[in-house]
Amino acid sequence: MEQSFAGRRALVTGAGKGIGRDTAKALFASGAQVVAVSRTQEDLTSLAQECPGMETLCVDLGDWEATERALSNIGPVDLLVNNAGVALLQPFLEVTKEACERSFDVNYRSVVQVSQIVSRGLIARGAPGTIVNVSSQASQCAIKDHAIYCSTKSAMDMLTKVMALELGPHKIRVNTVNPTVVMTAMGRANWSDAQKSEPMLKRIPLGKFAVRKRKMTLFWER
Ligand code: NAP
Repeated sequence: MEQSFAGRRALVTGAGKGIGRDTAKALFASGAQVVAVSRTQEDLTSLAQECPGMETLCVDLGDWEATERALSNIGPVDLLVNNAGVALLQPFLEVTKEACERSFDVNYRSVVQVSQIVSRGLIARGAPGTIVNVSSQASQCAIKDHAIYCSTKSAMDMLTKVMALELGPHKIRVNTVNPTVVMTAMGRANWSDAQKSEPMLKRIPLGKFAVRKRKMTLFWER
């Protein structure tokens, strides 16, 4: 089904690479005005070249003050995709303070912050809106070396439920999507080892991970 987002303004975090980049491109191709937010300027420059007219914003979403400054004059946003995330994998007994802090700052805290900014704008305008939080199957499934990553995504799932409860009366819909492994840079870094991926693949009825297709959005490989 073709869907038009003409007349809507969408903000996608982590739009420089992977799922976020494809989401920004898909929304743009469907007529949305898109603000692509990410951490590496070169990614945003190439994205803007691919999609002339797309707005870009370079900021480290793990930095609360920098994010506050960067988004203070963001203007009206109707659709928000909280996609930026990191997967810092460590065996539980070796988990570091730095990995804990960075993971929760980027995967969880930035979702709170960016959603607050966008929601306050929507409520002030009296406009309806949609927020999609990119969680993971890892929110529900224990995976070796993923203690912190899994926890950030479980926290995101519960955050989403409370946001949906509190923002629903303002006509702001909030949902998560919980993908399995997707062969982005993050997916390849963590799941290219056949020994590690085999048990996971065995639990997937189609027997394969999701892949990024050149055409706009995510499809299962056939
Ligand atoms: P990816 O290929 O690593 O891309 C992540 C994007 O987010 C990059 O552009 C990255 O920019 C940006 N980003 C990361 N930290 C940021 C920060 N502090 N501030 C601003 N931008 C930041 O990852 P992906 O596989 O597309 O994953 C996207 C989302 O899907 C994540 O939330 C991930 O947890 C979730 N997910 C992924 C999989 C999978 O298997 N790939 C499965 C389920 C869920 P830089 O590269 O410049 O840091």
